[in-house]
Amino acid sequence: MRGVAPSGCGIIRAAFNVSSGTYSLDHSKPLHAGSSANPVIVPRDQHPVSRSQISQNALKVLYRLKDAGYQAFLVGGAVRDLLLGIEPKDFDIVTDAHPEQVKELFRNCRLIGRRFHLAHVRFGQDIVEVATFRAAHTPIDDDNSVDEDGSRVLDERGRILRDNLYGTIEEDVWRRDFTANALYYSIQDFSIWDYVGGVEDARARVLKLIGDPETRYHEDAVRMLRAVRFAAKLNFSIHRDSAEPIARLAGMLDGIPAARLFDEVCKLFLAGFAVNAFDLLVHYGLLEHLLPAAARALAQQSSSNAVRLLRLGLEGTDKRVLQDKPVTPTFLFAVLLWPAIKATYDAQEQGALQDTQAWFTACDRVVAQQQKRVAIPKRFTIPMTELIAMQPRFERRDGRRALRLLEHPRFRAAYDFLLLRAAAGEADPMLAEWWTNIQTLTPEERITLVEQNVGSTPSDGPKRRRRRRRRPAV
Ligand code: ATP
Ligand code: MG
Repeated sequence: MRGVAPSGCGIIRAAFNVSSGTYSLDHSKPLHAGSSANPVIVPRDQHPVSRSQISQNALKVLYRLKDAGYQAFLVGGAVRDLLLGIEPKDFDIVTDAHPEQVKELFRNCRLIGRRFHLAHVRFGQDIVEVATFRAAHTPIDDDNSVDEDGSRVLDERGRILRDNLYGTIEEDVWRRDFTANALYYSIQDFSIWDYVGGVEDARARVLKLIGDPETRYHEDAVRMLRAVRFAAKLNFSIHRDSAEPIARLAGMLDGIPAARLFDEVCKLFLAGFAVNAFDLLVHYGLLEHLLPAAARALAQQSSSNAVRLLRLGLEGTDKRVLQDKPVTPTFLFAVLLWPAIKATYDAQEQGALQDTQAWFTACDRVVAQQQKRVAIPKRFTIPMTELIAMQPRFERRDGRRALRLLEHPRFRAAYDFLLLRAAAGEADPMLAEWWTNIQTLTPEERITLVEQNVGSTPSDGPKRRRRRRRRPAV
């Protein structure tokens, strides 16, 4: 059975009224998760998903699979987002062709995963991911690896480690997480196949796990973070039954590899809904398992300037995403870890270390703790530490030293962080203004300005004393 609706199952037609947003089902059997129900098929004229909104490359892949006689669907977030009128982040495709068969169809195709099993079709920089239908309850993990002998392997907590069965679309649907993420857009006739009531849930803006929520979280605790992510991104509510176990099971995140949690943190905080996501993580008791230091700061010093900075930093990140400006994990972690770094810095013996060195030490300590939960690559922690340790250098506005700071490769990020400190009450706003102003001047004007300042040491709140060695006169 290829490229056609599943045989033997009575196809149910449903009417989705685009203008009113209402959706009426025309089926005799109720659909519920776990049943082997037939799909509701929403024909093209009754849903808003149009090919003009699908990337050309994804369309090419879909058509070539179809023309070769395979089933091919757009699936997951892309269908959900298009249904909601949002531009999708990427376009995932699912098919009944096995990965080797996909590879045969595309010259620009690579099979990836620990033991193959997921096809990447490359078009320049753009990669279209093609998965093969999986049997029910097979995991969708980071490398989509599948065992060869077909047996499912669970770990001692009941989490799926490996599974191997390629399946049909009817099976594939049950391994997906939320009903709104389990919609299939057919390239055959441009209809949407809905086995789990996902269209209705998307319309009602509710996230509902497919199957028994507790079992699904046990299989993969990251689904709790995904629930928060989609709720924050889409402004969905999490269905009562899917929300209820989260606070109870939040500790299961401790068993998730720190590298995977790094990816999740980036997806939560770098996609334009960081403030929402942060609040939901706090609400569901997840934050303390992801960013323990930030959770502690929030509990102990919620009205401090340092916590204010964190919040303003997340707001700023969201604004930048909205304006299509780049955002980086470097700055994000400076923001998220700032309350802990500041507290660690303050707790160090005053005067024992030089100022910059004291900041380096505070960053190193906090980062070392944080790495146990979320593996932040060095390429982000090193510049993060640098931009924080540069902060005391902004206090010196005299002479060439100030000009040299302007040339520093990390100046921009460090300056943005200074602005944030000033906005949060962690630095003198006049200082921030001075550094904003100097950037607008010509090189000659800059020299004049810094020469005026020789001898002055502007204040930046409490400062640690530095003993400076006098250079011998020559
Ligand atoms: P985004 O807009 O962030 O890309 P998405 O829904 O496409 O959202 P992906 O992480 O790209 O999310 O995953 C694609 C699809 O794979 C999901 O829609 C879901 O059906 C399924 N999926 C991904 N991760 C899991 C998981 N941990 N458990 C179950 N299903 C998952
Ligand atoms: Mg996706």
